[in-house]
Amino acid sequence: MTDCLFCKIVRGEIPAQIVHKDESVTAFRDINPQAPVHVLVVPNQHVGSVAEIGPGNGALLAAMVVAANRIAEAEGVAGSGYRLVMNVGEAAGMSVPHLHLHLLGGRKMAWPPG
Ligand code: AMP
Ligand code: ZN
Repeated sequence: MTDCLFCKIVRGEIPAQIVHKDESVTAFRDINPQAPVHVLVVPNQHVGSVAEIGPGNGALLAAMVVAANRIAEAEGVAGSGYRLVMNVGEAAGMSVPHLHLHLLGGRKMAWPPG
């Protein structure tokens, strides 16, 4: 997707604070952090949202979660706890139509989320 913001970050065409990159996923700091640690993990290939994920995408989802877990460890929040979030659609507040896993940590989280 040539016009997609997160595809451009994956390709290095828009600057971002990359914290992890491998053959499947790229992770970078959220530009408007909602917690002391707020990282987005995205697939390198364009996927619109988690609503498009089917039974054949297990490896990609696993790669996203494995990366998030490793980043949580590296950022020092694995022990205190963290939250992984995927928003879908307008009601959930999804604003960038490229699948992304939010990793949030470093503060006490409220439940239910707003
Ligand atoms: P969502 O609301 O789930 O679609 O999350 C999109 C996230 O992308 C928001 O938390 C934004 O702050 C973040 N975001 C938007 N543009 C950028 C950017 N250029 N670099 C890093 N994060 C961004
Ligand atoms: Zn994209």
